[in-house]
Amino acid sequence: MARVDLNVPFAEKDQAKSLGARWDSLAKVWYVPSGVNAELFACWLPSANGSDPEHEPEFGIRSPHYFVLESATDCWKCSRLTRVFSFMLPEQHEQFEYAQDDDEDFALTSNPGYWVCHGYRGTMSSLHGLSRPVINQLRLHTECYKPAYSKTAGVTYYMNHCEHCAAKLGDFYMHSEPGGAFFPTSPTEASGMILHEVNERFDANGGVGYTTDDFMGYMQREGG
Ligand SMILES: [Zn+2]
Repeated sequence: MARVDLNVPFAEKDQAKSLGARWDSLAKVWYVPSGVNAELFACWLPSANGSDPEHEPEFGIRSPHYFVLESATDCWKCSRLTRVFSFMLPEQHEQFEYAQDDDEDFALTSNPGYWVCHGYRGTMSSLHGLSRPVINQLRLHTECYKPAYSKTAGVTYYMNHCEHCAAKLGDFYMHSEPGGAFFPTSPTEASGMILHEVNERFDANGGVGYTTDDFMGYMQREGG
């Protein structure tokens, strides 16, 4: 596979470098070397502002508005309480479903899939791509929710890090265990969470988790 050139602003060069981007000093351009997942660099792809409806979208999850979700957890390493973040998506969010491609008549010109709205609120996890405007909103709250490699999962995704000791705080416990930072099981647990409302479009790649009761009504609300 050929390399992918990026549009990286000077101020963000260190971030791109830490994710694995390389600098071509002759062409004076940052690029994604072959073998590295280009999705992590989605916000710097030249095509980030335009999309062709005939091709698969750059981001598989979208929403007309969203919430930056703030919670807290005890760090496994230093035992101190640290803020942790995710995103909550409203009922209107949509996921891109890929069309079956095992059909003999399937052609590159056919529609690759379609958008589906399931009508549930959801919490993002295993996040591995965010649009530039969403990153900008997230950075108003934290620098500690950022791409990192998970040995457990064997992939790189947006992971929370302890604000005190920088230890990695993986998604699994916080999202999948009842009582985890993003899995409230009572109004009391939910009352410690904060929803920062953002009236802008959301675009990302990752997973969306649903629960029968997310206790959203008990969470604190800010902004909007
Ligand atoms: Zn810590």
